[in-house]
Amino acid sequence: MASGITREAVLKGMRAALRLQRDLGLDRGEARGQRVDVFGAIYKENVPLLFRKLEPLLGAYLREDGNPGILLTTRRPLGQQRFTAAHELGHHILNHDPHADDDRILRRSPDMARDYMHLPPAEQEADAFASYFLVPDWLIGTLMRRHGWTTHHLQDPGTVYQMALRLGASYRATLYALVRNKVIGAGVRQQLAKAQPAALKRSLVADLSLETTQNIDVWHLTERDEGTVIEAGRDDLFVVKLREDSNAGYLWNFEELEQAGFAILKDGREQVAEGVIGAPTIRHILARAGHATAHGTYTLWERRPWAPNDDPKQWSFDYRPVYTHDAGLFRPFSRQASGAR
Ligand SMILES: [Zn+2]
Repeated sequence: MASGITREAVLKGMRAALRLQRDLGLDRGEARGQRVDVFGAIYKENVPLLFRKLEPLLGAYLREDGNPGILLTTRRPLGQQRFTAAHELGHHILNHDPHADDDRILRRSPDMARDYMHLPPAEQEADAFASYFLVPDWLIGTLMRRHGWTTHHLQDPGTVYQMALRLGASYRATLYALVRNKVIGAGVRQQLAKAQPAALKRSLVADLSLETTQNIDVWHLTERDEGTVIEAGRDDLFVVKLREDSNAGYLWNFEELEQAGFAILKDGREQVAEGVIGAPTIRHILARAGHATAHGTYTLWERRPWAPNDDPKQWSFDYRPVYTHDAGLFRPFSRQASGAR
């Protein structure tokens, strides 16, 4: 493979990213299984983060009279905003000079020589920092174990898209990280790169007519997402599929979701194994968050209606609406002030 980015730049960016993850405790405990909180990291580094309607710029690292700041555009999907934020954080952590970035930072790929030929070392280092900070190797491994995704599963573009959503990275950045981790080879990546995220989204909600999928993500959630942080845009859709022991009289109840402002667009059941008596069914719903749905942990219960306290099962997820498309100064979530329960 042609070497694009220089080895020195990769090592410098990678080491700085791993050090910051360690310093902020992102590689330990509960945080280790979740997407990296890049906006929170910027906040903890005492760098004001301001969202503005920038175009064509994606972001900038500023320093005025010694005071650092980061600007991010509101006009991009969350995955691209997160990568840009990590790139600008890299400029700060690596003591680079102030710098403004346009969408070339999204188009270049560290293993493509031509993308990096004339790129200054600071840009190379910030790219390496962003890649390792946002998609660390341990997070790829954690997600593969949690979801039972093998290298074989990750040759399917739909699975890669679902991984990208949980990483909070773009489809493209996820492909690069999978190659970097030797989960897939360069040939498979080339095949996967041809997939259109729009088609992947539509295939999950085939019977729903969507005008556009541009700012919509479609989350396919299962039991394995227990505890997952779902940082979702206002128009994102959720396809939830849960095993239901309906033969034993157990039923999932989605009342809590409706009370929290989610709209249940569809509700149905499918047989796990056709014609097998006593086999559990899969309950599947299609939901959309309302604009007023608050940040919080939501728990669903599977109960027998006539004996609700007898061995109920539960499934919860941590829902965080995305505010990064509104202009303003970033403030981290405060659990006390939210609908967390
Ligand atoms: Zn830059």
